[in-house]
Amino acid sequence: MKKQVLMPLYMKSFACIGSDCEDTCCAGWGISIDKKTYKKYKNVKHPTLTNLLNKGIKRIKDERASDSTYASFKLNKQSYACPMLDENKLCRIQLNLGENMLCSTCTTYPRVINKVDNVMELSAKLSCPEVSRLALLNPNGIEFEELEYEVNPDWGCRSRLNTLQPRFAEQLFWELRMFSIEIIQNRNLKISDRLIFLGIFINKVQQNIDNNQLESILSLVEEYRTKMNHPDYMRSLEQISVSTSFQVRSIIEMIQIRNQMGIINERYLKCLNEMLQGLGIDSEQGDVDLKRIETEYLNNYQNYYYPFIEQHEYILENYVVNYIYETLFPDMSSNKIFESYIQICILFSVLKIHMIGISGYHKGLTPEHVVFVIQNFSRVIEHNLQYVNRMTKLFEENGYNTLAHLATLVKDKRMQP
Ligand code: SF4
Repeated sequence: MKKQVLMPLYMKSFACIGSDCEDTCCAGWGISIDKKTYKKYKNVKHPTLTNLLNKGIKRIKDERASDSTYASFKLNKQSYACPMLDENKLCRIQLNLGENMLCSTCTTYPRVINKVDNVMELSAKLSCPEVSRLALLNPNGIEFEELEYEVNPDWGCRSRLNTLQPRFAEQLFWELRMFSIEIIQNRNLKISDRLIFLGIFINKVQQNIDNNQLESILSLVEEYRTKMNHPDYMRSLEQISVSTSFQVRSIIEMIQIRNQMGIINERYLKCLNEMLQGLGIDSEQGDVDLKRIETEYLNNYQNYYYPFIEQHEYILENYVVNYIYETLFPDMSSNKIFESYIQICILFSVLKIHMIGISGYHKGLTPEHVVFVIQNFSRVIEHNLQYVNRMTKLFEENGYNTLAHLATLVKDKRMQP
């Protein structure tokens, strides 16, 4: 069925590459099955699949249970892959029973569907390698278009936002998100300075929300747009100090917490090990020598990361723009929009230290390395809402949730030309 859809242009070129894919949609994730599909699976009469489906599915009976999360596939204990994958990493359900027998989760992935008022928004997760290549490697940046598009009625909608009958400040969503993307795509600034400027703006909006001054927020957008085009004001961002020791200390803590939560994805473990080796961290040793890590960090930054990223900043820009669009940033579902900015800073800084470590391991970076890191980072770190929420809470508890701390966290060290 054709529908009007707002989407990034890379989605026009997206098609799953099936068995040519170096990863699989279903590695290491719980895949929930909706009630309607569960009932269909229970009625399948097939020489091999009936048994496989009976053994490979379990009902969800705890507080997560709903019509959309009614059951789940039991992942393979060794590979953590879906039991329905064959030796060529193809889905047996799709091959033998047809695409319309897939559950909503599998039909939708890697697409993300949101609905803002009556507008359907389509984008995709960078955890799919094909999406990662299309979205990240476009040097011209991500552009959006509203167009007629073939929509599968079984695609599940992730989030809905009603800006016409706001409970908080949802009526401001379009302007705030549009301006946020405009800031991140402003190539007059380094990407870390664009993020800091976004933080200054969102912080100001948050103050107005807290003071119940919603009517002045639209003029705030204009005020900050003028500031963004003022060279003197923007130069002042360059004066913000960089604290490498704060960056290294807090990011290592964040990675340790993620590791304690258990990581089973082999492709991400490869990234993690390369990062640790590149930063001179012995993962067997309990203690970490922060001073030595800081020295390795600076060495990698200066010799390998910075020379690459200076030429390829558009990759990080595309990463942040895709995130802003697909997560409906800033989160207007409560009055705490600054929290969603904290989450961007956490993800950006954890991603950056992965790239800096890996650049040291390979003694340089290529676009392929970066796509590999972002794809697996997105799969293991970004998809894990529990982790992102835990980090946001930890930031609050440590008093790091201020603009000054976040700016110090994301700020890039300037290198002499
Ligand atoms: S991860 Fe992406 S390209 Fe790979 S099989 Fe899944 S949808 Fe296809």
